[in-house]
Amino acid sequence: MPEQPPFERSKNFLEVATGYDESMAIEEANRCLQCKNKPCVTACPVNVKIPEFIDLIAQKKFEEAYLKIIETNNLPGICGRVCPQETQCEAKCVRGVKGEPVAIGRLERYCSDFYNNLSKKLAVHIPQKHEAPVAIVGSGPAGLSCAADLANLGYQVTIFEAFHSPGGVLMYGIPEFRLPKSLVQKEIENLQNLGVKIKTNMVIGKIFTVDELFEQGFKAVFIGSGAGLPNFMNIPGEDLNGVYSSNEFLTRINLMKAYDFPNVDTPVIIGENVSVVGGGNVAMDAARSAKRLGAKNVTLIYRRTEEEMPARREEIHHAKEECIHFRFLTNPIAIIGNDEGWVTGLSCIEMELGKPDFSGRRSPNPKPNTAFLLDMDTVIIAIGQTPNPLISSSTIDLTLTPKGLIQVDSHTGATSKKGVFAGGDNVTGAATVIGAMGAGKTAAKAIDDYLKNL
Ligand code: FAD
Ligand code: SF4
Ligand code: SF4
Repeated sequence: MPEQPPFERSKNFLEVATGYDESMAIEEANRCLQCKNKPCVTACPVNVKIPEFIDLIAQKKFEEAYLKIIETNNLPGICGRVCPQETQCEAKCVRGVKGEPVAIGRLERYCSDFYNNLSKKLAVHIPQKHEAPVAIVGSGPAGLSCAADLANLGYQVTIFEAFHSPGGVLMYGIPEFRLPKSLVQKEIENLQNLGVKIKTNMVIGKIFTVDELFEQGFKAVFIGSGAGLPNFMNIPGEDLNGVYSSNEFLTRINLMKAYDFPNVDTPVIIGENVSVVGGGNVAMDAARSAKRLGAKNVTLIYRRTEEEMPARREEIHHAKEECIHFRFLTNPIAIIGNDEGWVTGLSCIEMELGKPDFSGRRSPNPKPNTAFLLDMDTVIIAIGQTPNPLISSSTIDLTLTPKGLIQVDSHTGATSKKGVFAGGDNVTGAATVIGAMGAGKTAAKAIDDYLKNL
């Protein structure tokens, strides 16, 4: 797929990959073997009808291809861009046995972009079949896909979102250069056309509790509140100026558009030497954003080796192309500051890998007497997130796991509280967009069954 050259793109927030044109999409679609047993479909968490939509592309029926995809996936432009296809649908593609798998995600993206650019779209009218209204807490991929499926079944659905814009991590976490916010807004508008209502600036647990939603007449509640609380390292100096959690840093840039300061109200202060601690997609996004904001040197600090990094290979490749410097087998032990309380350095220690830990990856252990100091003026911590306890602490009878995640029946998403379902990152911990969407869809089906038997 065509891309902006690394030198050019590392100075702007425009999308890195510019997308297929029509002839490229048709050529790629013609590589699909239309396998009868469809291993790619089974490997997709929402079972997109892959050979069918690809066949429609090959016939130049792009709108029909889009409509085929949204039979099971309401956010195709988003998934086509950010799904880890290499470990899902494309990992099982028969074409991949002896060469490159069919680029399923890129074709999905092509159909969505084609549809979203149409001036005239199909009018959607879904008759309301059920009286029972359903409340959804959170408008990330879990909440949106649950809402879409319930709306398609004829329920009245209202989403309550804490932020002023819907979309969850799609809006405030994943940067513009990987996932344009105008696309996220369009795919959300397509859902609103199904009749889904979205109420923003509604922090459930503060404005209303989950129990109060039932008192207002909602007959079932789905909680898709994500994992928005950042983890910290608990080392000296984390309270210095110039230290950000990745959540704060990326929210300032994506949701508040701080890269356009002073044309917008929210600034983001960034130094010449920036370090990002972590090895996942979030760390990669923070590092690449820091580069785009003008940092001279961006160093990613990771305590294991490249092999164990959880980030997508594509993101690591893009980060390297954009001159992000990687320091493997390194762990921070203190953040150093000056008398004015600003960061001046990051004290680190070298690590070595030991026996596999509970995650199956070799555990990182500090090497004695290897501490050293890196000159830094900004430190961004991207070492994972957990769910915010606001909802769990304000909802009676909601059982949590020892890690503070909401406990659910994995087949239905039903929680310990009657009529309350949950799914996405607040159940699994930080995971994937498509995983959250799958959980939202499972819960929608279970909510339908529950309400029919109420
Ligand atoms: P979220 O997307 O977190 O949405 C939860 C929503 O609930 C938010 O809008 C929040 O404001 C709202 N909310 C929370 N509490 C309340 C409340 N009390 N009342 C009302 N609303 C509330 N996954 C991928 O598959 N590919 C990627 O490339 C990728 N990159 C990522 C990059 C970053 C920077 C981050 C942070 C994550 C990334 N992920 C990626 C992970 C993915 O985005 C998440 O797994 C997914 O968004 C989880 O969806 P969710 O609906 O469970 O939660
Ligand atoms: Fe593949 Fe994701 Fe599309 Fe499923 S939704 S087919 S996993 S890109
Ligand atoms: Fe086409 Fe690959 Fe799926 Fe076969 S496995 S139907 S080649 S996308």
